Amino acid sequence: MPMSDLGRLVYSTDAGRMCPECRQPAARCRCREAAQALPAGDGVVRVSRQTKGRGGKAVTVVTGLPVPVAELPEWGKKLKTACGSGGTVKDGTIEVQGDHVPRIMAVLQAQGWTVKRSGG
Ligand SMILES: [Zn+2]
Repeated sequence: MPMSDLGRLVYSTDAGRMCPECRQPAARCRCREAAQALPAGDGVVRVSRQTKGRGGKAVTVVTGLPVPVAELPEWGKKLKTACGSGGTVKDGTIEVQGDHVPRIMAVLQAQGWTVKRSGG
């Protein structure tokens, strides 16, 4: 086999490697970029108190955190700890159970971020 064919063979084998996350060829994988991307927003963190479900329980919802998506779970944990409450992180939003708007705003403002109360 000529050297040129050998080179092509190695190249095509390499390009055939798949990302286990998105199942795209490695060359087309954007998983790492997505994890590091900042959520779309205007740089203002918004904190609101919402009630959801029939029980009408309050949750404190935080959107627009200027951190990579990959770091949101860590921030969710920090805020939950600060409030001594449970919560979830999904779709770029952190939810903490209960009405903790003032406390969460204080924690976020301590980071030097612009924090606004939104909604009710
Ligand atoms: Zn991937």
